[in-house]
Amino acid sequence: MTSSDFRPPAEAAIRLQALEKVYAGGKRALDRVSLEIPRGSMFGLLGPNGAGKSTLINILAGLVTKTSGTAEVWGFDIDQHPRNAKASLGVVPQELLFDAFFTPFETLELQAGLYGVPQASRRTMELLKKVRLDDKAHVYSRTLSGGMKRRLLIAKALVHNPPVIILDEPTAGVDIELRQMLWAYVRELHAAGTTVVLTTHYLEEAEELCDRIAIVNHGRIVADTDKKSLLGQAREKRVVVTLESDIVAIPAIEGVTRVEKLDERRLDILYDKGSTQAGAVLARLQAAGLSVVDVSTREADLEDVFLELTGAPIGAAAGAVV
Ligand code: ADP
Repeated sequence: MTSSDFRPPAEAAIRLQALEKVYAGGKRALDRVSLEIPRGSMFGLLGPNGAGKSTLINILAGLVTKTSGTAEVWGFDIDQHPRNAKASLGVVPQELLFDAFFTPFETLELQAGLYGVPQASRRTMELLKKVRLDDKAHVYSRTLSGGMKRRLLIAKALVHNPPVIILDEPTAGVDIELRQMLWAYVRELHAAGTTVVLTTHYLEEAEELCDRIAIVNHGRIVADTDKKSLLGQAREKRVVVTLESDIVAIPAIEGVTRVEKLDERRLDILYDKGSTQAGAVLARLQAAGLSVVDVSTREADLEDVFLELTGAPIGAAAGAVV
């Protein structure tokens, strides 16, 4: 339990309690997930394929029925206040699905109609301008490039001016230039006060954009922490040394996190790269009378942290981790 468990629900943008989804056929996609996404945050939801991210998003979006547990958006329970919960959320899906014969202008107007946004408060052109599609307002959507379609999807999720927006893999398969542009736009949205939740396979993206990151694996939250702490876990560096003679006893080395014997002559040493350097570790070994004949080092990064927590490489092929 953390102190966040005691906050009143109204303070969370999204609050899940023991959320469970078992699909027909028995697949448990979400296993009693409890999670609180603070208002105003830029929250990253990371997880390998099959972890349960889409199921979670689809439950919030009202597209998948949960098996048990509760979910709230902006303080509105999705069962008790489905309309308010829906009005509080904008979801940018992963797939670029459009009616090809609608123009971006019509697409947004239709969406505004679906959400009951009155004519007077519609911001269709303003939104198109924001995602830099105003010059494409009246062309068929099928003629738009992939990047333009993605921007249109963002605008579509914003027509009802929700306080929370979820972007599902917003930059999957987009080139670097467009990724930078999307990042800039997401930052703008966040700066203007929108709570942003994004799922991503790119650790770099979560690292760049998010202030808080949760990692999902096999339908469970395996980490939920601020980015700095998560990065802190990636500060460990490893050096494997081969000694000239057999190891009799594991030496005590000052300033390292852990020393393990791998075999007769090799030691696996973990240290914090913020406070120690490989050279210093080696010097301490020499000073202890141990002669080093070979050294290899490896730096842990977020990828390692992810691997450690989930046991799966990020971006694992669909179906590889179920
Ligand atoms: P992610 O978005 O993290 O890749 P999903 O939420 O799509 O994960 O899937 C979680 C698990 O639920 C996977 O094992 C997936 O195969 C399964 N699953 C997803 N949708 C369905 C469905 N409609 N019916 C049965 N199983 C499903």
